[in-house]
Amino acid sequence: MTSTCPHCGWPDSQLFRVVSRHATAAGLTVWARCACGSLQVREVGAAGARIVSRGRPDLVPGCPA
Ligand SMILES: [Zn+2]
Repeated sequence: MTSTCPHCGWPDSQLFRVVSRHATAAGLTVWARCACGSLQVREVGAAGARIVSRGRPDLVPGCPA
């Protein structure tokens, strides 16, 4: 995975902080928080990990980015 966080540029390949993990039928769903505070949901399966959704940093309320 070569993408980076659009908010702070943190590489998605490096988990900053894992919030929780949930086993699903597809594999594993991992909630993680980025260095900038945005929350992301990853799906980890046999094909690898992909980011399902990504929240905004909650450390800077009102920021249009
Ligand atoms: Zn970030």
